Amino acid sequence: MSKWKTIIGLEVHAEMLTATKMFSACPVVDSVEAPPNTATDPLSLGMPGTLPVINHEAMTYGLMVGLALHCEIPPFNQFARKNYFYPDLPKGYQISQYEHPLAVNGFLDIELSDGSSKRIRIRRAHMEEDTGKLTHVGDGSLVDYNRAGVPLLEIVTEPDIFSSEEAEAYARKLRAILQFLGVNHGDMSKGVLRFEANVSVMHESDSAYRTRTEIKNLNSIRSMVRAIDYEVQRQIELYERGDTVKPATLGWDEAAGRIIIQRYKERPDEYRYFPEPDLPVVQMSREWVEEVRARLPELPDKKRARFVEQLGLSAYDAMVLTLDKAVAQYYEEVLAHGVPAKSAANWMTGDIFRLLNDHKIERENIASIAATPAHIAKLIQLVESGQINANTARKDVLPLVWAEGQDPEAIVKEKGLAQVSDEGALAAGVAQVIAENADMVQSYLGGREQAINALFGKAMSMFKGKANPAIVKSLLQAQLDALRNV
Ligand code: ADP
Ligand code: MG
Repeated sequence: MSKWKTIIGLEVHAEMLTATKMFSACPVVDSVEAPPNTATDPLSLGMPGTLPVINHEAMTYGLMVGLALHCEIPPFNQFARKNYFYPDLPKGYQISQYEHPLAVNGFLDIELSDGSSKRIRIRRAHMEEDTGKLTHVGDGSLVDYNRAGVPLLEIVTEPDIFSSEEAEAYARKLRAILQFLGVNHGDMSKGVLRFEANVSVMHESDSAYRTRTEIKNLNSIRSMVRAIDYEVQRQIELYERGDTVKPATLGWDEAAGRIIIQRYKERPDEYRYFPEPDLPVVQMSREWVEEVRARLPELPDKKRARFVEQLGLSAYDAMVLTLDKAVAQYYEEVLAHGVPAKSAANWMTGDIFRLLNDHKIERENIASIAATPAHIAKLIQLVESGQINANTARKDVLPLVWAEGQDPEAIVKEKGLAQVSDEGALAAGVAQVIAENADMVQSYLGGREQAINALFGKAMSMFKGKANPAIVKSLLQAQLDALRNV
């Protein structure tokens, strides 16, 4: 066992999907799709003489997240100026919250692969504005202010995360909560959700935390996991060779698979925070907080519990079906067509997830596949009602539904895949198989029980795999039993 323990605290920046920016009526646009600098106004450009106005929708969204994370909502919160110079910040300061954040002292429960769960404490969540975006080209830089002023919620954990696996579970769960709330679509490749990991290690003989480093610009959960693992290893190696870890801001080079030291921090950053003089203190009326709490949608934990308790799903199936909003939605749409919950869950977590995997489609993009929930429900109904058998559904029908979004019923008709359930025809076929395979029959009657499987296989292939397997099985058993009694 390693003598070193990993300590991680995560800081997450989530853009809020509001119509307009945090402090002005300037529209919020997709920062990847929209041409640069087409969604700006005097305020987002930091023009002198402009005055901010707090976006009520953004505060509501932030409040929803705070409540979903079981935070306390202090009676008031206050904006503050965080002063620093950077070309993506035209005002020379960012309006953030400092001493009086929107939400404090919450928690989020994560589920781990060994089936256990763990509570991660949330220290605070505060509202702020996003900065512009810099693109470095050659020896110059381009700046796009579309993103400047977009509402941003920063969510900070206590250092309660002890491995990259826990960090991943936290990231996925938090992303799911934001998606379920409808305040963020969770697409990390577009930068709407950004993770920073504070990492340190502790020796088993330590009684206090050691120096932490901060990894910035992690633009996928996979990168975060790799970066944390790399950084933990780097720190342990430094200590083991008698060196020290210096406080630093780090970056992650995904292509090279390594940490880059961006700058060492001689002393903590000094932002000269002071209360934002152009904005009022925000009073959070208890009525409003309770009204928003009452309107919260069903969140992943609740949905998961309901899937187990009301639908009878396994804990694992319930978890994977609620980890992405799009997956949960797809599954519930399949159910809305009246198919049994358990077989729908089996099809989703089995065949559909496998196909998504094979085609390298993220589960969160399940809504984009050709096979609709209605198709999948129809496919399940065809099996449940005995019109096709499960194997035909899986091997012959689903691939066509998947590839072309064809109606399963039409495929069955067109390809003549309907299951043969006619007892007379099946009994005759089984009798023929028994007559043609006397040695297998003898071996079965002589006590080799498995011989029945080979006979079953022959009977199924006689009907090109389309026979009703349950009927074939019972007919075969009955006819063999009859021989035994002769
Ligand atoms: P700052 O105010 O300078 O940002 P904080 O103490 O508020 O520093 O911590 C910021 C983040 O770092 C939090 O997520 C916290 O959980 C995490 N953190 C604090 N101490 C450690 C540590 N020793 N190892 C890893 N993470 C830590
Ligand atoms: Mg910080």
